[in-house]
Amino acid sequence: MNGCDDVRTALVLGGVPDADHLAACPECAAEGPAVARVAAALSADVRPAPPAALAARVRRAAGPLLARNAHRLAWRAFARALAAALLPLPLILFLDVQALRAAYALLRSVLPDGVSLYVVFNQAATVTLLLALSYAAIPILAERQVRLRRRESHA
Ligand SMILES: [Zn+2]
Repeated sequence: MNGCDDVRTALVLGGVPDADHLAACPECAAEGPAVARVAAALSADVRPAPPAALAARVRRAAGPLLARNAHRLAWRAFARALAAALLPLPLILFLDVQALRAAYALLRSVLPDGVSLYVVFNQAATVTLLLALSYAAIPILAERQVRLRRRESHA
């Protein structure tokens, strides 16, 4: 926009126009009364009241779209959480297997083979159960994160 447009916009919208330009520009001085009439007509216009049922209709119309967006966000959060959790899993499994093998070798040197195997098997079962419970909690935590984010965005 040039200086004339800025001055006219300021006059129509009730802003403060550039006084130096207004005093020096013959075009702005000539259009000043017309711009003032437009500003008066715009400010005198009464904004129509929205129909009473508009909010309910908009909510009803937007409901399926909002639900689909929320569903998609939940799936995206779940996929991110699962990817972040699966990333270190090979290393965790490798370290667990190495620790169990070392424990089995150590136990075999002091205990009978059957007892060593029993202890190592119980340890492996416990670690497997803990890993399964941890990974089973991922959807619950992801859904909770989505709910918290939604609550923050609405607050
Ligand atoms: Zn001007």
